[in-house]
Amino acid sequence: MSGGFVHEALPMRVVLGAGALARIGEEVEHLGLRRVLVLSTPEQRDLADRVAGLLGARAAGVFDGARMHVPVPVVDAAAAVAGEVGADGCVAVGGGSTIGLGKALALRHALPILAVPTTYAGSEMTPIWGLTEDGRKRTGRDRAVLPRSVLYDPELTVSLPPAISGTSGLNALAHAVEALYAPDGSPLITAMAEQGVRDLAAALPLVVADPTDLDARTRALQGAWLCGACLGATTMGLHHKLCHVLGGMLDLPHAETHAIVLPHVARYNLAMAPEADAALRRALGVADVPAALADLGERLGVPGGLAALGVERADLARVADEVLAAPYRNPRVPTRADVETLLEAAWRSR
Ligand code: NAD
Repeated sequence: MSGGFVHEALPMRVVLGAGALARIGEEVEHLGLRRVLVLSTPEQRDLADRVAGLLGARAAGVFDGARMHVPVPVVDAAAAVAGEVGADGCVAVGGGSTIGLGKALALRHALPILAVPTTYAGSEMTPIWGLTEDGRKRTGRDRAVLPRSVLYDPELTVSLPPAISGTSGLNALAHAVEALYAPDGSPLITAMAEQGVRDLAAALPLVVADPTDLDARTRALQGAWLCGACLGATTMGLHHKLCHVLGGMLDLPHAETHAIVLPHVARYNLAMAPEADAALRRALGVADVPAALADLGERLGVPGGLAALGVERADLARVADEVLAAPYRNPRVPTRADVETLLEAAWRSR
């Protein structure tokens, strides 16, 4: 087949709008669930309690032990609580870490998920799961982990600090950039990615300037939804590979790593991906996409380079080894020298 595409739509219901959390009871009912376990991190326990309060008798309990990278002991503990209270589903309230815990429960115990995202990471839109055991993170794709319904309420993102809002938004934007040159793209993915980038690039500077700006928060969350949906539908490239290796090997913060690396991979890849570059030029209204992404990062207060996250220059060679050992598909097949140059630039950065 030449010049065509295969597009597989993922079945998800989305409710988005300021104050949407008030509809959580209806959403749980719509899914036919009667006793849900509410999941959160310890930091977001108050919000989880508020959700349980709104659900009344439909809430079977709250588990607030979600942690980064979905450690298996945490999944076991949450599953034990779900069993004790007789949960028939879960409501995951939080960022990628909490939604990741919901996905692990869906994968292992077939509990359906209603996701209430409070960051821009986009995990709620993907069939990708991750589990960490004995220091190793395994990931996979399985339709069973897709949330049945996603409720986006921008009011819940007002508490996301400006610096995290900026890096989390750029993490989402990176999903769209890689979807635009993915081998399994389609005209629908291009349209979603372009709009997602337009929304995030317009909204994030406003969000960082005034975290309580609900119109900007709404637009940012809409962008995150579209970019997450792009990630869920396509194959990731060199950018995600680099970030996964950096995060896993050096235990770096997820969103910051994406935000720092993105302009450098864009500079490398877009040179060989003219259609993706054209879509991003339209979305950003600029001629030089990598420069615009670097500028945006600077305006959003992204750390100046991987060195600012504590990465030692001597670590870069190990990272390059692992990136090249099992590369993701990419518009350019990187040589060792390419990866080293890219990492060096991201390390030094501004
Ligand atoms: P996170 O979920 O780890 O949250 C970081 C911290 O911010 C937590 O303490 C959380 O409670 C807090 N927080 C979240 N929302 C808040 C809010 N509105 N106000 C105040 N505090 C808030 O961060 P993340 O960046 O959303 O998720 C990162 C994780 O998600 C990584 O492990 C990454 O691998 C995973 N992820 C997975 C996918 C996927 O498709 N599977 C996609 C993107 C990210």
